[in-house]
Amino acid sequence: MNLSTTFQDFFADDRTALVVGGFLGASALILLGVFLWKRWQYCRFVYQFELLWDKAIQPYCPGCRKRLADWQQHASIKFRKDAEGKTVKVPTTYYAFHCSRCMKTYRLVDSDGYEVTLEEARKQVVFKPLCK
Ligand SMILES: [Zn+2]
Repeated sequence: MNLSTTFQDFFADDRTALVVGGFLGASALILLGVFLWKRWQYCRFVYQFELLWDKAIQPYCPGCRKRLADWQQHASIKFRKDAEGKTVKVPTTYYAFHCSRCMKTYRLVDSDGYEVTLEEARKQVVFKPLCK
C-alpha cells in the first residue's frame, strides 16, 4: 500500500472529493473571515487612559467593547490621616464610566496614574492604531 492508493481509497468517488474540497474551501473562507474581523477589531480602537477609543474619539469598554456612555459621578471613601495622626475615612467623589455588561466602573487614568477628566482625555486621545 503506497500513498496514492490510500488517497484513492479515501476519495472513493468524485462526490466525496467535492464534499471534502468544499469543506476545506469553506473552512479557509471562515478562517480568512475571522482573521479579517480580528484585524478590523484590532485596528478599530486605540487603547488610552485605560479605555478603548474609536476614530470619532468615543469611549468603549476595554472588557467587552461595548460603547460607554454614562459618565457619572460616583461616591467613595478615601483614607486620610487627621491632625492627631489617626486614619480617618473621608467621603469623596470621582467620575467614571460604568459598563452595564461587565458591571464595572472605569476611571480615566493617564500613564502616570493620575485621574483625567473626560474633556481632557478626549483632547489628548490620538487615533493612531498599530495597523493601517
Ligand atoms: Zn464591558
